Amino acid sequence: MLKKVDGIVLKSIDYGETDKIVTLYTTSYGKMAVLAKGAKKGTSRFSAVTQPFVYGSFLFFQGRGMPSLSQGDVLQSFKTIHMDMTKAAYAAYMVELVDKLTEARRIYLHVFDWLIVALKQLETGYDGEVIARIVDLKMLTVAGAKPVLDYCAVCRSDTHDPTVFSITQAGFLCVTCAYRDQHAYPISITFAQLLRTLYYVDLNKIGTISISASTKKRLRTMLHMYYDEYVGIHLKTRGFITQLERYDPRLFTLDND
Ligand SMILES: [Zn+2]
Repeated sequence: MLKKVDGIVLKSIDYGETDKIVTLYTTSYGKMAVLAKGAKKGTSRFSAVTQPFVYGSFLFFQGRGMPSLSQGDVLQSFKTIHMDMTKAAYAAYMVELVDKLTEARRIYLHVFDWLIVALKQLETGYDGEVIARIVDLKMLTVAGAKPVLDYCAVCRSDTHDPTVFSITQAGFLCVTCAYRDQHAYPISITFAQLLRTLYYVDLNKIGTISISASTKKRLRTMLHMYYDEYVGIHLKTRGFITQLERYDPRLFTLDND
């Protein structure tokens, strides 16, 4: 039976001498793998539509085994992302995160929209690191590890402003409860508000968010530690971004700190 679906290419891996197995994140089925016969050949009609982060429309044959791609049309190729090493690194990071945190053939609320809008914002020139942190925060709900950001994670009261972010207590702590985690990160009210904003923001409306290089670095360290503690996935692209940063720091400090 032939079926049609719109989706984003999360990854393509070689299969046998000529084929590829393409993992898509789709609107109707969530994550799914399709066999793209002959896609390894440069001349294949599937070669453009099976590139990483391409958004496409896919017609596939669903038999007993793995669905087989019958036709694919590129809806958006994200050319700018592909031509820029830093942008490509952040796009690769986000698709790897979605791939690692989702189960096949399960629909997760919002995930498709988050990913497509994140890629569109990256394509139009928005700061890749900020988009990656927003996606990090939003994907924590998918991982079942949402941090407590609306009240104190220990006493559950919202009468006091948060003074620290605790990894072990999974969220903000108020001034009275801060002693519970000696290794928590001290935070300002502004930083606490920023974290909430990044978690709740509609990715379509991030145009006004501007973050200094030092704050971005703090966010990244905190969120990576949080992921390591509660999610425990290994992301190849995380290491790649760190290497890229060492290679040319200017790529990452173009904003005014
Ligand atoms: Zn408290």
